[in-house]
Amino acid sequence: MNITKEILCPSCRVTIPASANFCLQCGVKLKEPPIATSAKKQMVIYFISFLLAPFGLGYVVKYLKQSDPKARKIGITALILTILAIALMMWTSKIFLGSYYGPMNTLRF
Ligand SMILES: [Zn+2]
Repeated sequence: MNITKEILCPSCRVTIPASANFCLQCGVKLKEPPIATSAKKQMVIYFISFLLAPFGLGYVVKYLKQSDPKARKIGITALILTILAIALMMWTSKIFLGSYYGPMNTLRF
């Protein structure tokens, strides 16, 4: 038998189902609504993660915190893309600096 869990609204103290995103009585936000996992949203996240590397980390954190495995997968992919983009950025700047100033053995990333 399935017991429906209920919680108390922190704002108006009415009993509401634990699965509700908003209080049915006063409309206070109880938890984040399901995160977007559409193909279009994924494209935006991956685009930002790779081309604007550090800014994608906000999405990474947000998506990794989700319980939805699909959202977590997006977070992991965005994280990999961010790491790749940063590695690529460091690698190209190393080549650039190397060709500009000659071999620099002390230059470590
Ligand atoms: Zn309420």
